[in-house]
Amino acid sequence: MKTPPLLEVQNLHKSYNNVEVLGGVDFTVQRGQVKALLGPSGSGKSTILRMISLLEPCDSGTILLDGEQIGVIGGRVDVRPAPERILARQRTAIGMVFQKFNLFPHLDATRNVMSGLTTVLKVPKKEAREQALEMLDRVGLAARAHAYPSELSGGQQQRVAIARALVMKPKLMLFDEPTSALDPELVREVLDVMEKLASDGMTMVVVTHEMRFARSVASEVALFDSGQIVEQAPPDRFFDAPEHERTRRFLAHMH
Ligand code: ADP
Ligand code: MG
Repeated sequence: MKTPPLLEVQNLHKSYNNVEVLGGVDFTVQRGQVKALLGPSGSGKSTILRMISLLEPCDSGTILLDGEQIGVIGGRVDVRPAPERILARQRTAIGMVFQKFNLFPHLDATRNVMSGLTTVLKVPKKEAREQALEMLDRVGLAARAHAYPSELSGGQQQRVAIARALVMKPKLMLFDEPTSALDPELVREVLDVMEKLASDGMTMVVVTHEMRFARSVASEVALFDSGQIVEQAPPDRFFDAPEHERTRRFLAHMH
């Protein structure tokens, strides 16, 4: 039997105050692939990530993770949100990294990384600490394990946030403009960690304005506009031979 895509989003709709923000979004991400989402501000990129990470319910549509429908119970018509207990379990399979790192200011790097393990997964402290240190090492921060967020650069804080997501052993990692809040000289260290993660086989969806990253790391690039995907293609075709006028216009503004 053919294995299903790791993530399958089907006909997702979302409105706020009767204004449609997602107008029927479909996409799939195969295991081990990186999907880059591009698009102008306000086009719905953050909204789609919030739907996939189950931070908010969608109005209709289906999200399948590893073949299992998540976020809702019932069929396509009945889209009641699942009970909080089920959502909490499903959420642990999806790691999310935001533009703002949202670290706990009163906890050092290690305890920030441990927090989900001890509170959500009930992992004993000693074991959680070991896993946290291992993850901090993986993002190049073993030496700063006991630093507080205020003692770390923005790039280091974002790497702690990545370690905090990774330590939960997610099947899928979502990144929402992870380098947009960083000083230019700190962007590279975060992209390097993401690139390594991708080459280690992590399945990722990345909202970004970093065109070089999208071109070199993504397996597929999608352009969002007004709550819909305008075009999606492998990076060579997307950047060098886009099919749609809207894509050509978007790319012209990025250079
Ligand atoms: P992007 O991330 O592409 O910049 P967003 O997904 O943040 O876009 O937003 C898409 C649209 O949805 C915008 O018009 C935004 O104002 C609107 N929107 C997003 N979240 C909310 C919300 N919680 N309430 C009302 N409107 C929202
Ligand atoms: Mg956004």
